[in-house]
Amino acid sequence: MAVAVAMLIVLVVGDFASTFFYHVPQHLWFTLHLRTHHDRRRSYWDHAVLSTNGEVLLDGFLGAVPYLIVAAFVWQLSWPGALLGLLLGQLHVWWRHTTELGWQTPTWLRAFSRSLQVVLPEDHDGHHRNPDIEFGDIFRFYDVPAQFLLAKLAPTSRRTRNAALRRSKRAPVRA
Ligand SMILES: [Zn+2]
Ligand SMILES: [Zn+2]
Repeated sequence: MAVAVAMLIVLVVGDFASTFFYHVPQHLWFTLHLRTHHDRRRSYWDHAVLSTNGEVLLDGFLGAVPYLIVAAFVWQLSWPGALLGLLLGQLHVWWRHTTELGWQTPTWLRAFSRSLQVVLPEDHDGHHRNPDIEFGDIFRFYDVPAQFLLAKLAPTSRRTRNAALRRSKRAPVRA
């Protein structure tokens, strides 16, 4: 029992922390994740799974830190559960990037994943096609609050700042 609880906490709380303390802030204010994970010049299977480029690895590591912190907290409860959570989380990273390799989720697995609100490779592919949607790396229920937060904080984002900067450059102030 403790194993299952610890495992679930790592996955559910880890995804929460990673989404709201890393993924969403990266999309709003930083460039590392966008330059690496959302680099359209390369296959995302390559930069999510195979790449050994330093920045790509750093993005992957920073995204994993929240899971590691949660795992450290539940270690006392059940260390095998904590490890199992981390392992499943890593397997899910690989799995959710397989659409590019031609993976199609079979109907039974799709129904099962939907009932648990687990992100399918097809869902995560949506995030790579349009980086403004499909948040939550493992669970889909984080997408609505993530998009709400992104919309609320949009005025503070890099994108808004850059757009304002471009506008001010295009339209010189007339005397
Ligand atoms: Zn991805
Ligand atoms: Zn992203």
